[in-house]
Amino acid sequence: HDIPDILKTIHAEVRERFGQHAGKVADYIPALAQASPDAFGMAVVTLDGDVHTVGEAHAPFSIQSISKVHTLTLALDKAGDDLWKRVGREPSGDPFNSLIQLEHENGIPRNPFINAGAIVVADVILSHYDDPEAALLAFLRERSGNPDIGRDDEIWESERKSGYRNVALANFIRSFDNIENDVQAVLDFYYFQCALKMNCIDLARSLQFLACRGKCPSSGEQVTSIERARRINAVMMTCGTYDAAGEFAFHVGLPAKSGVGGGIVAVVPHVMNLCVWSPGLDQKGNSLLGGYALHRFTRMTGLSVF
Ligand code: GLU
Repeated sequence: HDIPDILKTIHAEVRERFGQHAGKVADYIPALAQASPDAFGMAVVTLDGDVHTVGEAHAPFSIQSISKVHTLTLALDKAGDDLWKRVGREPSGDPFNSLIQLEHENGIPRNPFINAGAIVVADVILSHYDDPEAALLAFLRERSGNPDIGRDDEIWESERKSGYRNVALANFIRSFDNIENDVQAVLDFYYFQCALKMNCIDLARSLQFLACRGKCPSSGEQVTSIERARRINAVMMTCGTYDAAGEFAFHVGLPAKSGVGGGIVAVVPHVMNLCVWSPGLDQKGNSLLGGYALHRFTRMTGLSVF
């Protein structure tokens, strides 16, 4: 495939099809609303390390829920399969910040990629790492090869001030004894992971181990076990794009994880990683142009896990 040409075609297509200001930039976290609605960037990183980009693939953006893949990897590394006693792996069918299901299921969140589940994963990380923020940063910097990755202070502040639902979720889960650490400390770590800034290339690189049986393709380091890499991909496929994971499987057919900052990463097992960013979201909270771009990419290349 001529990847550079395909990326160029997709860039032109999204402009033509959606025009300016497509989708709605998330504004329930006030600082996120400042993102440029017209930004679009896409990066492909092959297992050989070739990088292809189009648009604003070098611009750092708020990774938000994409960080839930990285924290799940770290938590599984420490807690092993016991993690699954505290968080499930079924799609929720409810919005990412919903409280409803917790009441019926004893504070066990449906999956690690909705906010409730990620808060439990954050709690597991707090129990196992002396300095969880440093551990996550070190992991992201090493996996992406970018030592400059860091927190966006303004977004972090904004999340702390406006995180009413996350406060409710964490306290509700705590009432079922499914949080072990201080609730505020868990939330602070959760806001930290959401407020990290990375660009499309960093993000695609950071998950290369998921396309390569748990191994870093360049160093050969086993980042997570083969079996765990397979399972993380499975959870991304079924739960990674909020309550639109069925639509994504249908139209894109790749394990993927989105965030309300407008980023979406996707894994083509044994072949490559992709990341697309465009802050305008659709009604379910996924990047509107990003979803379309991934759909077109898999159509044009024939790449799919199915
Ligand atoms: N920080 C966001 C929240 O907790 C993350 C949401 C997302 O990207 O799905 O609401």
